[in-house]
Amino acid sequence: MEANTLMVTLDAIPPEGLELALNLAPEEVAAVATAEGQERPAVTSALTGQLKVKRHGSRRLSLRGSFQVGVVMMCDRCLSEKETELRGEVDELVNLALPGEAAGEDEDDDGALPVSDGRVDLRGLLAEFFWLAWPFRFLCRQDCAGLCPRCGADLNGGPCGCDDMKTTVN
Ligand SMILES: [Zn+2]
Ligand SMILES: [Zn+2]
Repeated sequence: MEANTLMVTLDAIPPEGLELALNLAPEEVAAVATAEGQERPAVTSALTGQLKVKRHGSRRLSLRGSFQVGVVMMCDRCLSEKETELRGEVDELVNLALPGEAAGEDEDDDGALPVSDGRVDLRGLLAEFFWLAWPFRFLCRQDCAGLCPRCGADLNGGPCGCDDMKTTVN
């Protein structure tokens, strides 16, 4: 699928909605996600999923769907990196900023999607959904032992020998 799949022509959206099959190469996902001023994520597989785009009057679009993509996350306890799958759900109503309209005319229009040449670019929104799906806290495994607060050793590999000077860890 082409990179501009996420450029949607508004007039091409049928009344029942337009079903988009998402299939973005890892490099593109990383580039799109980074464009939001975020750190570049390590993306290990294509982002796939589907997105249904429907018009609500001339000023709104609803987006519904889900996606999954392989990424590398860092464990919050032991700082090791692990390949995992990021899954996201999308259920959003977005305002459209029609050309020629004064920006910020409506307070709710802050996040409005700009329409240019009758088309909207959904890549920025995809980046938003990507980061919304990113867990606040990630553990390489449920019972990850973490790092020793004293010597920094990875306790998943066994005790480090600091036991007699043990401090409380949360
Ligand atoms: Zn861990
Ligand atoms: Zn230690």
